[in-house]
Amino acid sequence: MNIAIIGSGYVGLVTGVCLAHIGHHVICVDNNPQKIKKLKGGQVPIYEPGLQELMRACVKKKRLKFTGSIKEACQQSSVIFLALPTPPKSNGDADLTYIENASREIALNMDSYKLIVEKSTVPAQTGKKIQRTIQLNLPRKFKKGNKILLGFDVASNPEFLKEGSAVHDFMNPDRVVLGVESKKAEKILREIYKPLKTKMVVTNIASSEIIKHASNSFLTTKISFINAVAQICDRVGADVLKVAEGMGLDKRIGRQFLDAGIGYGGSCFPKDVDSFIHLGEKNGYDFALLKEVRRINDWQRRWFVRLIEEKLWNIKDKTIGVWGIAFKPNTDDIRNAAAIEIVRMLQAERARVRLYDPKAMDNARHVLKGVTFCDDPYAATQGCDCLLLLTEWQEFKDVDFIQVHEAMRQAVIFDGRNFLDAEHLRRMGFEYFAIGRGRSV
Ligand code: NAD
Repeated sequence: MNIAIIGSGYVGLVTGVCLAHIGHHVICVDNNPQKIKKLKGGQVPIYEPGLQELMRACVKKKRLKFTGSIKEACQQSSVIFLALPTPPKSNGDADLTYIENASREIALNMDSYKLIVEKSTVPAQTGKKIQRTIQLNLPRKFKKGNKILLGFDVASNPEFLKEGSAVHDFMNPDRVVLGVESKKAEKILREIYKPLKTKMVVTNIASSEIIKHASNSFLTTKISFINAVAQICDRVGADVLKVAEGMGLDKRIGRQFLDAGIGYGGSCFPKDVDSFIHLGEKNGYDFALLKEVRRINDWQRRWFVRLIEEKLWNIKDKTIGVWGIAFKPNTDDIRNAAAIEIVRMLQAERARVRLYDPKAMDNARHVLKGVTFCDDPYAATQGCDCLLLLTEWQEFKDVDFIQVHEAMRQAVIFDGRNFLDAEHLRRMGFEYFAIGRGRSV
């Protein structure tokens, strides 16, 4: 099939590359000229394992190309995926102007049947708005009175990939969700995803839109739940790792997303929770449960900084080493990263911060000022009064902690992800603090 992807970011590029890989002809659009230049030169502008190799292979097979023009993409494809940003507005609602503008441009450039597919995470009812925008903006030659003479469909196909394992997730999804309102749209989408041989959930557009928001909100609820449990564990001398293991073996609960820590971040969870709360409010329902999920998440970071303050005595003028700034491992994405907020809180207390992240340093340099950026994990610990682990990159498990101990002024570690080997570090002479592991133990 001939497919266009509008928006070539984390979701759009992965979607485009993977759809090309399974046999479709794909044209990826982006309005950022530098991004398109890089992509045309065979470079992936983000860090995502396996993506660059796969992209180059698809380009070589002539199944994937890039453009800055929606018009060109429209002319060459019958299915158009929207993988555009849907950032939060100040009131928590999703900003859908990117989606509206692209829909208008598609309408203006349509000359044959198109299926327009929402890949972005959008609030329920967005499908209807896209449909209306296209109808309103179709050239006059395709209208006769109120009648639309050019066929098109809108569908919803939310994306569930996780940054850091995005290619694998796209190729091996737990399910593909299709929100459709016509047999034709269903048939096309089933055909597109057929090679993935996965379970398909077919429903109407509104239900599909809700599936995405409800899924992300449920995952954040699990995270905040275990963080609340961790707070209790710390107070009564229990170990949240064992608690999560004991809970997670129950198949009704499952172990995933029961990792206590400094809370969720990233470009999706915080904004999707806000947007779902807002959708409830707009429709007369107070989603108080999700408000609490959000409150617990915010509290977790502030509490972590408080813990550091309690153990260091004073934060002012202390040198603090930070390992990890990406919102999760295996990505360079720092959008809404818990680590960024923690670094800023420490800076507000006048700490000096030395930072190292395996992949996110360039992005961090753009948003963090006054931080010493280090070339490796050891340099980040030099002369430090404590070390914070904020992103659980595998690399941090493999460092030589004897060297770290020697480099630090005070051998104190705060593990914001319960990632390191507590017993081993304590035996080596570190003071080690984690989350929910029984501070009194
Ligand atoms: P992103 O910011 O990485 O990518 C968006 C891209 O769209 C950017 O490259 C930007 O330059 C481009 N763009 C903006 N306006 C454009 C226009 N008018 N024409 C062409 N290109 C344009 O965002 P993302 O992380 O890929 O997220 C996209 C959507 O997918 C969001 O709704 C997000 O919530 C959702 N989503 C994201 C993830 C994730 O892990 N990142 C997972 C599932 C769903």
